[in-house]
Amino acid sequence: MISDPKFGEGIVSKIPFHRGELIFRFDGQLRDTQTLFTLQKKPGVYIEDPYFMGKILHCCDPNASVDMENQLFWARKDIQPGELITMDYESTEDELFRSFHCQCGAPTCRGRIAGKAAKSTP
Ligand SMILES: [Zn+2]
Repeated sequence: MISDPKFGEGIVSKIPFHRGELIFRFDGQLRDTQTLFTLQKKPGVYIEDPYFMGKILHCCDPNASVDMENQLFWARKDIQPGELITMDYESTEDELFRSFHCQCGAPTCRGRIAGKAAKSTP
């Protein structure tokens, strides 16, 4: 885990992953409300992990994709040791616990990140 002045706390990979590889399986407490450390499993059902999964940072062009059904993180790209593991919060969340202005720097950066529901209603 690192603490970055710009992005806050995040999870950094210690080992390399190839595109398509499983990065990790996560678990946590099932909740019916969102917190800063939850991911949405389905509408109204959230999994909270304030220690690991909940600290994965957002990127609009992330290096990991999330399978909420099986609670898995897969590598979307090759990941080098020392690289932050990132995901797209709008791939899981209908509405973010706290929306924010993204500064990921990806050419495809969407700017304001608020959730799937917010994205579909301009
Ligand atoms: Zn972005």
